[in-house]
Amino acid sequence: MKNYVFTLLLFATAHTLFAQQKTKTENVILITLDGMRWQEVFNGADSSFMRQQQHLKDGNLKVKYWRNDLNERRKALFPFFWSTIASQGQLYGNRAIGSKVDITNNQLFSYPGYNEILTGHADNERIHSNDKIYNPNKNLLEYFNSLPAFKNKVAAFTSWDVFPYIINDKRSGVFVSTGWEPIKDTNLTDREKMMNQLLQSLPNPLGDVRLDAFTFYYGMEYIKKNKPRVMYFAFDETDDFAHGGEYAAYLNSAKYTDRFIGELWSYIQSDPTYKNKTTIIITCDHGRGADAEGWKHHGQKIPEATQIWFAFLGPDTPALGEIKTGQAYQNQIAKTMAALLGLNYTSEQPVGEVLSDVIKK
Ligand SMILES: [Zn+2]
Repeated sequence: MKNYVFTLLLFATAHTLFAQQKTKTENVILITLDGMRWQEVFNGADSSFMRQQQHLKDGNLKVKYWRNDLNERRKALFPFFWSTIASQGQLYGNRAIGSKVDITNNQLFSYPGYNEILTGHADNERIHSNDKIYNPNKNLLEYFNSLPAFKNKVAAFTSWDVFPYIINDKRSGVFVSTGWEPIKDTNLTDREKMMNQLLQSLPNPLGDVRLDAFTFYYGMEYIKKNKPRVMYFAFDETDDFAHGGEYAAYLNSAKYTDRFIGELWSYIQSDPTYKNKTTIIITCDHGRGADAEGWKHHGQKIPEATQIWFAFLGPDTPALGEIKTGQAYQNQIAKTMAALLGLNYTSEQPVGEVLSDVIKK
């Protein structure tokens, strides 16, 4: 009898352990909006910054983005976030109600932020510029690409042309699409051909940075053709327009990106490869200042630039909506993303812990 109980207990324990490791997520998609402030994500457009833009032709700015009610205002800017994600996923970083997310690197600009997201640790010693230097740190995408189940099923579509260096595509073997170059492939789709034509026919206001619409729609064609298991979309316009003091363009980019994410989610939930087994994670690389001049800037002179946010949506994530307490960090994304796939990501450096509320117990 005793033996029987013991066996039963063992079985139960093993079963529980197995159940803890098993997740529904088989694919993950990471999305970043460069330098997108948590203030607009959670509060919508700022009326005082909008007034700085009265010289602009975009006179509809107030009509498009201003609402007296906070919930309506943020939904006007991020409709997908404040409908689907707020009701089915999780949003971290609304400091006004007590949820804080910060970076741990002390640089407060892009490359160090993306390094922290993608490796799970800050590296202030070696990553302290945005120069095109191949990243000495191994990253999470590289880790996935080294696993047989993910080999050549990992891709990054990025607007900023420093990403091949951040991801170190030479060493990692991860496919990285970037910059103002037509897509090359032996079987281009009609949409890819059209985008290639447009790319070679439009002015590029952002220099070497590819406009985010190209990054998104090229990436969607790639997803449909290649069915990657891990995909990274890195959007950039929000940062460029903020640096230029163009609040209207910054808001418009934020809203387009929200729509891109909504289109991506509709596709995911309509395709049997992805439906109910894909998690999306959305975040940014750094924050920006809080006042009428500071919002344009980030870096070590802007202390609020440590403040960021995350969103999660997928089959393993309890629908907690807007998180109201706690402190989370940028270095937790990498291990959490792996844990969603049932994997334990580690590195030579200590990495941030899994965000426990993201994965159903
Ligand atoms: Zn940035």
